[in-house]
Amino acid sequence: MIVLEGKAVFEGIAIGKLFVYKKKEQTVKREKVQDAAAEIKRYEAAKDLAIEQLQALHEKAVKEVGEAGAEIFEAHQFMVDDGDYIDSVKNIIETESVNAEYAVAQTGDIFHNMFSEMDDEYFKGRATDVKDITERIINCLNGGSSGDIDSDEPVIVVADDLAPSETVQMDKEKILSFVTVHGSANSHTSILAKTMNIPAIIGCDIPLTEEVNGKLAIVDGFEGKVYIDPAQDVLAEKKKILQKEIDKKELLEQLKGKDNVTLDGQHINLYANIGNTKDLGLVLQNDAGGIGLFRSEFIYLGSDDYPTEEEQFAIYKQVAQTMAEKKVIIRTLDIGADKQADYFNLPKEENPAMGLRAIRICLTNPEIFKTQLRAILRASAYGNISIMFPMIISVEEVKRIKEIVEEVKKELDEIGLPYDKDIELGVMIETPAAVMIAEELAREVDFFSVGTNDLTQYTLAIDRQNQNLDEFYDAHHPGLLKMLKMIVDGAHKGGAWAGICGELGSDLSLTKEFLAMGYDELSVSPGRILPLRKVVLETDVSEYKKEKGNN
Ligand code: PEP
Ligand code: MG
Repeated sequence: MIVLEGKAVFEGIAIGKLFVYKKKEQTVKREKVQDAAAEIKRYEAAKDLAIEQLQALHEKAVKEVGEAGAEIFEAHQFMVDDGDYIDSVKNIIETESVNAEYAVAQTGDIFHNMFSEMDDEYFKGRATDVKDITERIINCLNGGSSGDIDSDEPVIVVADDLAPSETVQMDKEKILSFVTVHGSANSHTSILAKTMNIPAIIGCDIPLTEEVNGKLAIVDGFEGKVYIDPAQDVLAEKKKILQKEIDKKELLEQLKGKDNVTLDGQHINLYANIGNTKDLGLVLQNDAGGIGLFRSEFIYLGSDDYPTEEEQFAIYKQVAQTMAEKKVIIRTLDIGADKQADYFNLPKEENPAMGLRAIRICLTNPEIFKTQLRAILRASAYGNISIMFPMIISVEEVKRIKEIVEEVKKELDEIGLPYDKDIELGVMIETPAAVMIAEELAREVDFFSVGTNDLTQYTLAIDRQNQNLDEFYDAHHPGLLKMLKMIVDGAHKGGAWAGICGELGSDLSLTKEFLAMGYDELSVSPGRILPLRKVVLETDVSEYKKEKGNN
């Protein structure tokens, strides 16, 4: 038995086999080969495997996002099977007597450059696809799994670190837990673990080797430990804890259908955060009153090119319809910083967290913004949708956003497409500047949602991605708590309602405080809704205020 330690970012026990996740990116070396014909055979086998993978991805995507969203995987199959591409690879292997990986990478570069230099926008857009299929074939040559979880049973995913664009592709049903060597407590791997309600450990020195792959292990998210090849007595003890957890969940089940009201009659909305339509099942299972944060950027991260209006419309409509009359707050794309999509071609920045991101990208590229707004507005005819804008720092920004929303509404009116004319607009409060002008901002919008993940990073000057700073990161810093009170007061004075959608919203040790501050909503990972409801039902806010006053 090997015992490794790390930092637990979500509690719970997972028992299962380890799956070492391989990065998609590869470095390709030029190597001489003796037998070019054998190398061509290797290439052909990899090509066939890539087509098989794409067929499987196409089927999966049809089920998850519909035919329109799945088309890309069909297009990629044709590209892998393209005669010119195949001839070029074979020609390089034969004439230069080199390895297939190198020949594929060379061909990929030639085709990529050829497409990106074309004037036609459609063909230009295909350059990214060429890059993608090239990486896939190289990956197949290396026997890799293109980032998919190659296992029939659910596994514990072990990785160096995981980018949002990688986790978005994973089949969530196959994940029991995450263990990463790097990553910070506020990274998106942690957020994903919370959404899925599974234990996760970061900063764990686990070897990412073939020997570890497939071994039985226990992840203990209470202790922050991973047990590889656990001894029988440890396994028996952890199985008992796991069973207790299952029992606890069953008790919480009894809270389903209850109103979120305190002992002295104060009501609060408990909504869920999601990043994907696949999370909708969890939202309903956990009895969320609505969706308080739909991280729409995950649609962009899961694509090889800008998602079209139709693709986005289909997704937003599905969310709105699934939630029926319940509120669905869609946050416009929050790309940049730790959430990168190649095709945005964002400049390399010294300080990406303070760089061109989120609403700044939208305001400098109004066409990308308008495509998303059109899709959201059209979907608003099918349910109860609100729109929320991230990373706001000024009233002028909000005024400009509202003008753009009006322009899009007018365009829809002109072509007679229906949408919710009274759609609620809100802003995220995640910069200290927004806190200081909360009341002025509140006069412009219907609601606020506090992004405590970013607000903490910008207030404490602590990069949320930097694991070396976790010891300085005080989520309960008094400066931050004062800000949270200022925000809700400013919101109410300016006539807006206020919620919290950052991770702090699910911190049960602060629930009473948030109720006392007067928050109207908390939006949390689906699995945190029922534990939160339990605290709300057991709280007497006036008693709590009295106790606090006496201390
Ligand atoms: C936040 O910053 O708290 C937030 C909810 O947004 P994200 O974590 O997606 O940046
Ligand atoms: Mg944020």
